Amino acid sequence: MTSQRTRNRLIDRLREQGIEDEIILNIIGTLPRHLFVDEALAHRAYEDTALPIGFNQTISQPYIVARMTELLLSKGSITSVLEVGTGSGYQASVLAKLVDTVYTVERILGMLERAALRFDMLGLRNIHYKHSDGAMGWAQRGPFEGIIMTASPMHIPEALIEQLVIGGRMVLPLGAGGLQELVVVTRTKSKFEVEVVERVNFVPLVSGKL
Ligand code: SAH
Repeated sequence: MTSQRTRNRLIDRLREQGIEDEIILNIIGTLPRHLFVDEALAHRAYEDTALPIGFNQTISQPYIVARMTELLLSKGSITSVLEVGTGSGYQASVLAKLVDTVYTVERILGMLERAALRFDMLGLRNIHYKHSDGAMGWAQRGPFEGIIMTASPMHIPEALIEQLVIGGRMVLPLGAGGLQELVVVTRTKSKFEVEVVERVNFVPLVSGKL
């Protein structure tokens, strides 16, 4: 169920859906996603679906992880990324293979602790994590070349844009469940530009720590 053949089938599917970056496809084909979901669901880890990861949250569908990663890196390689919503740690682990340093914040402590164990187990030492409400970003570690949000706010969080370098991009779902859109926000000298990509379905961004 977790064999290379099963993983290759997932990669074929992502290609069919338009993911073109071979480096990203290769990372998704080799990263053990079954270690990021509950053991009882490990046999479904290489299906192209979101899966529960406890605390009422989900690990994103591999297609979405690939797409958001592609969008983040589409203007060339970057060195530092902030992720809001660590969850299982899967998206952060994909990014850790592509950028020098990943910063990730999560509001649910129990979730973050589990993700941290996975980072250790996989030897991913370039991921720095923090238990906090990510709506404020991580100013002390910024500015970042890229920001990725994996929980959906109702409005573009301007506090986060201020933590982007000029020309930096933020990839995020925007809006309420059922009506969300994936958008790319690029910080410009004077303000920012927004590009709408496609419909998505993420858990909402929630304020406060747990
Ligand atoms: N990137 C994750 C997907 C996580 S689901 C993965 O690869 O598995 C979204 C996560 O965002 C959840 O864990 C949720 O607790 C977290 N989250 C929601 N609102 C948040 C906030 N304000 N600050 C930080 N994390 C938040």
